[in-house]
Amino acid sequence: QAKDHQSGVALATGGPDDDSGRQRLTTLEELRAGLDRGELTLHYQPQMLIAEGVVAGVEALVRWNHPSRGLVYPDGFLPLAEHAGLMGRLTTQVLEMALAQCRAWNDDGLALTVAVNLSASNLQDCDLPGYVADALLRHGVPAHSLHLEVTEEILIRDAARTTEILAELRRMGIRLAVDDYGTGYSSLAYLQALPVDDLKLDRAFVTHCDTDPRSAAIVKSTVELAHNLGMRMIAEGVESEAGLDRLRQWDCDLAQGYHVSRPQAPQQLTTWLRQQASDVAHTDDHTTVA
Ligand code: C2E
Ligand code: MG
Ligand code: MG
Ligand code: MG
Repeated sequence: QAKDHQSGVALATGGPDDDSGRQRLTTLEELRAGLDRGELTLHYQPQMLIAEGVVAGVEALVRWNHPSRGLVYPDGFLPLAEHAGLMGRLTTQVLEMALAQCRAWNDDGLALTVAVNLSASNLQDCDLPGYVADALLRHGVPAHSLHLEVTEEILIRDAARTTEILAELRRMGIRLAVDDYGTGYSSLAYLQALPVDDLKLDRAFVTHCDTDPRSAAIVKSTVELAHNLGMRMIAEGVESEAGLDRLRQWDCDLAQGYHVSRPQAPQQLTTWLRQQASDVAHTDDHTTVA
């Protein structure tokens, strides 16, 4: 699977080898067929409220269940989907699956928000807010249960239309998060101008924050920045108990990462969430479900 993942990256970005063009075409045809056949699937990763030790929500992460290559990870096909103009269809399918699952969990007594990632082309599409509003109604999911994540790269590109679309989504009551905060194209200007609710600090700063003083300084300062802007701070890539302890000391709001849980298929995650909930019935010292 790891190997398939790698070959997917090479295909998507176009390698130097002779038949990469033909390979890329094949994969594009496969991806189109895969979208038609419903081969996309979602794994979900918990987001934990640090102070309470409670799982408040999950992030939906797309995978492609390829008929011969097995489970392909996002790096292996998202660049191709974006390049080929398929992100609109892909995002539609992801949202439909994520909202159906969110509704199912809530019907099942598991009150969870669900976060969905948007791509650059989604935020060029003026039909997106209308579609999302309709999808929320159809699935019977309240707007505040849906969070949408956008990277800073997207936020600083074509500011006018992007701002308009984001403002409309937010007026509906959807929470917006800046994903991978601090990598690549950081600019404080959009934080001043754009209506966003949460900052998700990239795992590059988080994973070693318990041992690396520079990471620690960045995490602490970013928590303050987020709070001073009236935003919540989400740390991604939390991989250790020591890291989680530091984040708690620094008043970080939410943690996501392998230390809490890896992304899991919905049924597995349901079992995990139930286990957390029953653990808390026996001790106060465990993660539980809101
Ligand atoms: P992201 O939105 O920043 O998602 C977090 C990524 O970090 C996920 O990788 C997750 O599995 C991984 N991760 C979580 N915790 C840890 C940790 O503790 N350590 C480490 N090393 N990694 C951790 P994944 O699932 O491969 O997704 C990669 C990226 O693909 C996502 O980054 C997101 O930008 C994009 N993506 C995923 N699903 C979708 C989707 O449905 N739509 C769009 N547009 N993009 C998506
Ligand atoms: Mg994300
Ligand atoms: Mg991220
Ligand atoms: Mg990322």
